[in-house]
Amino acid sequence: MQRTIRIRLTPSPTQAAALAETSRLFTAAFNQFVRLGWDAKVGNATKLHYLAYYPVRESLPTLNSNLINTARAKASESLRSAFALQEQERTVSMPQSDACPPRYNVHTYRVDWESQTVRLSLVGARQTIRFTVPNYNAHYAGYPVDTADLINRNGVWWLHVVVTVPAPDVEPTDEVVGVDLGIAQPAVTSNNRFLGKPAWKAIEGRLFYLKRQLQRKGSKIAKRHLRKVKGKQARFRRDCDHVLSKQIVESASPGATIVRENLTDIRKRSKIRKQTGTSRRVHSWSFAQIKAFVAYKAEGRGCTVAGVDPRHTSQTCSCCGHQARNNRRSRGRFVCRVCGFELHADLNAARNIAAKYHADGGKAPVGGLPVNQPIVSVPTLRHRK
Ligand SMILES: [Zn+2]
Repeated sequence: MQRTIRIRLTPSPTQAAALAETSRLFTAAFNQFVRLGWDAKVGNATKLHYLAYYPVRESLPTLNSNLINTARAKASESLRSAFALQEQERTVSMPQSDACPPRYNVHTYRVDWESQTVRLSLVGARQTIRFTVPNYNAHYAGYPVDTADLINRNGVWWLHVVVTVPAPDVEPTDEVVGVDLGIAQPAVTSNNRFLGKPAWKAIEGRLFYLKRQLQRKGSKIAKRHLRKVKGKQARFRRDCDHVLSKQIVESASPGATIVRENLTDIRKRSKIRKQTGTSRRVHSWSFAQIKAFVAYKAEGRGCTVAGVDPRHTSQTCSCCGHQARNNRRSRGRFVCRVCGFELHADLNAARNIAAKYHADGGKAPVGGLPVNQPIVSVPTLRHRK
């Protein structure tokens, strides 16, 4: 199985300058590929190569050609997801990045775990840079490497390295844990765990309100502030999703099956929820992200992840099975009209999710992450008007 580990680079001042310049040129290449692909409506990686490789290479002669190719691969990913959204008739503007992390592969970098050095292709020449492995990642060090992304965070250079490690030696068990992404509580599991912090919703609400205020103002200063708030919001959501996904996976024993609702689209989800008369969920923001995090962490624990049809999970009585729209009386409590069963509404839904999986015959597992995409290094995109 593949894991992404972070190693901290300790470059000399000259090397740090080369890292910064390489990142700048890589971002320029990414943006240029996207622009050319966007104008020609080309998202396919091979077609994008024929369309744009030479123009990009000519305009950035000092960037290593392998890095140009990985910039194209990243541009192709962004273009394809933008075009996919367009196809669903969503308004999408051309993706552009302020800092697209350079992606290294077998041709452009080599890790030496023994001496704790990495040899990296940078502008100018290859450089040997020392690194340290944070303690929390030490157990994954030393394994064969795949790709790596170069990231600067608050002035510190990191390589996010994908390594192939043996999958945990765990036998699958019969344990099934249903998870409901809730309203009052970010997540509730069918084995009675209440996960995440209810306070997240208030913080999210404040950021939402602040963003709307700034959007209305529209002045230059407001726009700059807005960009900062958006970054803050994305980091906040990401942190919450990391915490929540970890708690979800740890609520199941190794070898268990974690079952969640099959939701591919947030809008579809809100439509479903509207019918049940409940408000926007805390995690309506990031279903794709939380899904990816849970899949990643579950794999590391030897758990399987499955999805079930989300319909009626909040309207059905987990005790007698009676399903009716007016079953749900008040926001937090579920009360059954027929048998009088009463329970925390999200816990009731989580139990229904687990029960649905059993009713389906315990099938429908879903895949994990696309393997060679480190989940930690999505380019930070801004959208140009
Ligand atoms: Zn009932």
